[in-house]
Amino acid sequence: MAVRISDVRVDFGLPESALFDRIKTIIGVPADGVERFSIVRRGIDARGKGAPRRVYTVECALRSSEDEEAVCARVPNARRYEPPPNPFPRFPARKPSLPPVVVGMGPAGMFAALTLARFGMPPVLLERGRPVEERERDVARFWKEGTLDPESNVQFGEGGAGTFSDGKLTTRIGDSLVEHVISTFADKAGISSLGLDAKPHVGTDRLAGFCRCMREELRSLGAVIRFGARVEELKVEGGAVRGVRLAGGEEIDAPVVVLAIGHSARDTIRGLHGQGILMTPKAFAVGLRVEHPQGLIDRIQYGGYAGKGLPGADYSLKAKTPGGRGIYSFCMCPGGEVVNAASGDGQAVVNGMSGRSRDSGFANSGIVAAVTPADFFGSEAPQGCPLAGIAFQEEIERRAFERGERGGLPSANLLSFVYGRKVSPFPARVRASKTTHDTLCGILPSHLEEELRFGFLRFGETMRGFLTKEATLYAVESRSSSPVRIERVNYESVSCKGLYPVGEGAGHAGGIVSSAVDGIRAALRVLELYSE
Ligand SMILES: Cc1cc2nc3c(=O)[nH]c(=O)nc-3n(C[C@H](O)[C@H](O)[C@H](O)COP(=O)(O)OP(=O)(O)OC[C@H]3O[C@@H](n4cnc5c(N)ncnc54)[C@H](O)[C@@H]3O)c2cc1C
Repeated sequence: MAVRISDVRVDFGLPESALFDRIKTIIGVPADGVERFSIVRRGIDARGKGAPRRVYTVECALRSSEDEEAVCARVPNARRYEPPPNPFPRFPARKPSLPPVVVGMGPAGMFAALTLARFGMPPVLLERGRPVEERERDVARFWKEGTLDPESNVQFGEGGAGTFSDGKLTTRIGDSLVEHVISTFADKAGISSLGLDAKPHVGTDRLAGFCRCMREELRSLGAVIRFGARVEELKVEGGAVRGVRLAGGEEIDAPVVVLAIGHSARDTIRGLHGQGILMTPKAFAVGLRVEHPQGLIDRIQYGGYAGKGLPGADYSLKAKTPGGRGIYSFCMCPGGEVVNAASGDGQAVVNGMSGRSRDSGFANSGIVAAVTPADFFGSEAPQGCPLAGIAFQEEIERRAFERGERGGLPSANLLSFVYGRKVSPFPARVRASKTTHDTLCGILPSHLEEELRFGFLRFGETMRGFLTKEATLYAVESRSSSPVRIERVNYESVSCKGLYPVGEGAGHAGGIVSSAVDGIRAALRVLELYSE
């Protein structure tokens, strides 16, 4: 047993080495009464007018349990702490006749495969894209020349969509596996502090190393990894999966298929829909990405403490329109870059990325409007069709592609979009072959455009200085999460036995950590079934 004390606030300047002395004072127990002391979480609170504070959660194991009880009774935010039960099985599972197949090497697929392999069921891992080293070259060529490889790009390839990202490992899911996922990233990306940071982020420059380490461990455990292996179809007999068929016709038999294909595998989703795999339309969000000088955001958030050793400030904004629609900031990247995240021809898609040091000098974030199936049934797809959201995304991405002169990103000055003023954009840190000067009007449906303007005006009140001519907008932010959900019970598809749709593409997770957790949970379910 131990005691955890959260929300311990100290001056920003206090060296961490002095923290233990502070804790002894707080708990009123002398040093020799403390068996073990450790920092569990560290963060910074720079909100409000006062000086920024460091905020800690610490853990103390005291020599006497009476002391622990007394501390919990006396100290606010102190409570007894018992580690959660180990979620992993104690024994390797009975091996199925054929290895399971895992489709997709994003966080969901990689963590599902690692869990299966670590507990005696090394899978065959199929990835349509290329290994991260080649993928980096393909993406760099796309950003420089505009030549897109539809199988190896920001969305597809080893590591999945999150490889060219900020690598933020924040999540709101309260799952006990979150710590396991973050410590795996800490271990394989070589960033020991990740597990302690209140807002952990890896940085794109460290994610490639993470992928290589995952690949090595997977192979060392007997997993077979195949790149350039696009699954085109499931083999199904009598309502149960029997394997997969690859583009090119090769068949791989398997009693279990974990489907971790991400939110951009539209061809695969359409194929699955055609095969009768039950899926439903799902709400998601679309909008634009805004870029500000980081210094400006620091001044707004930190006031007079900006530039005094604090990290690049972030922000989280949300508003509700009179019609009740949510407008909010999404995937905010301090010290980052705006990237063209297209995965197919005829698309212009934006998202954000940053390196571990977050030192680009600019901050960017998606500003998006929540959309529901009611919004995208203007598109061609018939009423209720689960694919309508994809058609809606394709339509707005096509419009942005045209405005980006077929390969670039259209951009506008924030004030010209909000107020219609004639002000030029100042594209700064953008990974795209080019940017065009545009108004960005008419890319999104007009009602959404209007509601986004409402949101920007609100954010200008919430964050004085946010609405500035120094800010530039880019179109279009369309891949906030999956527009479809593949229906499942206990991780297994309701329409195909042995099929485990997981992660963001299956509509059951959003973000790196929750996708990884979803992959692990499905793998644990498979291991459980084979342990009975
Ligand atoms: C630019 C960018 C920045 C982001 N930043 C962050 C961030 O900072 N923090 C965060 O939490 N989230 C971030 N995200 C979102 C995050 O990347 C995703 O939520 C997460 O990667 C989803 O994981 P997944 O494994 O479900 O799917 P994905 O990561 O999308 O992986 C799916 C994989 O399946 C493969 N695949 C698809 N179809 C097939 C097929 N038919 N056959 C074989 N393989 C196939 C794809 O090539 C891909 O590698 C970002 C996304 C982008 C694009």
